[in-house]
Amino acid sequence: MQTIGRFAPSPSGRMHLGNVLCALLAFLSARRQNGQFLLRIEDLDAMRCPRSFADLIMDDLRWLGLDWDGDVPYQSERSDIYAQYEAVLREKGLLYPCFCSRAALHAASAPHLSDGRVLYAGTCRDLTPEQVAEKRKTRAPATRVRVPDEVVRFTDAVWGEYAENLAEECGDFIVRRSDGVFAYQLAVVVDDALTGVNEVVRGADLISSTPRQIWLHRLFGFAPPRFAHLPLLCDHDGRRLSKRDEDLDLGLLRERFTPEQVIGALACAAGLTDRPEPVAARELVSSFDWGKVPRHDLYLPDIFR
Ligand code: GLU
Repeated sequence: MQTIGRFAPSPSGRMHLGNVLCALLAFLSARRQNGQFLLRIEDLDAMRCPRSFADLIMDDLRWLGLDWDGDVPYQSERSDIYAQYEAVLREKGLLYPCFCSRAALHAASAPHLSDGRVLYAGTCRDLTPEQVAEKRKTRAPATRVRVPDEVVRFTDAVWGEYAENLAEECGDFIVRRSDGVFAYQLAVVVDDALTGVNEVVRGADLISSTPRQIWLHRLFGFAPPRFAHLPLLCDHDGRRLSKRDEDLDLGLLRERFTPEQVIGALACAAGLTDRPEPVAARELVSSFDWGKVPRHDLYLPDIFR
C-alpha cells in the first residue's frame, strides 16, 4: 500500500523550528517510501487561526523545499463532515453533555495524571434528562465521549511500544466544545482517515493523544495509521522550545539563513546527518531512516543560538 503522510499545522502563528522539524521528517519519511505527502490546515479555532498565517505556512514550506501533493483542506470548512461522525458516536450512545466549567475541571481536587493532564472525574456522566434540561438553562454544554476500561496499544516508530488504559489514564474526552467548535481529537481522526493518511509524524507532545485517536479510528471502522512521534527540540538549558520563542520563527530565520542551512542544521540535530552542513531537503530522502532518530530531546543547533 502506498504511504500517505501529512503535515497538519495549526496556523495560530508563524511556523517555528519545531514545526519545521516535524514537516521535514514527515516529508522525508513519505518521500523515502515513494509516498504522498499531504498538507492540512488545522484551523478549527478559526478566530485564532487567520488565513494569513495559513498562507505564510505554505510560503514557508515552499521556501524550505517541502513540497506537498494535492489540495489543502481547511478544517474550518469541514464542520458538516465532523458532525456526521459525531452523529455516529451519538447513535452508539457514547456522547453526553458536560456542563463543567474550566475552573471545576482543573480544581485541586481533580485527579491529576503524572504528565500533568487532568483525568475527567465523570461529574456529568450520569445526569438525568431533568438535570440536563435544568443546566441547559444557564450554560451551553460541551460534548464528551464515554471511553471504555480498555488498554489501547501501538508501536511508535521512535518510542516503540506505547499503551494506555483509556478509562484510567485518559478519561471521557471532549469531542465538541461548548461554543460548537469540534475538538482536535475528533477532527484529526476523521481527516486522516478520509484522506487516506496511513502515516502520522508529529511531536512527542501529542503521543498521549494517540490512544484515544486509535480508539476513535476503530470505532468508526477505519484502520489506524502508523505513528512516529518526534523528540522535542530544547535549548542548551534543557528548556523545550515553544511557540513563544518568537526569535526562532520562520519570518526571522528567513532573514538570517538559507533554506539549506535551516534544513541541514535540523537534520543533524535529528540524527540524520553527521554534520550540520547546508543541504536541500530532497537530498536527504534517499538516506532517511527512522532508526537514526533518537529518543532523547534534541538540542537546538548552534547556528540558531
Ligand atoms: N495541528 C496540530 C499542531 O499543530 C498537530 C496535529 C497532528 O499532527 O496530529 O500541533
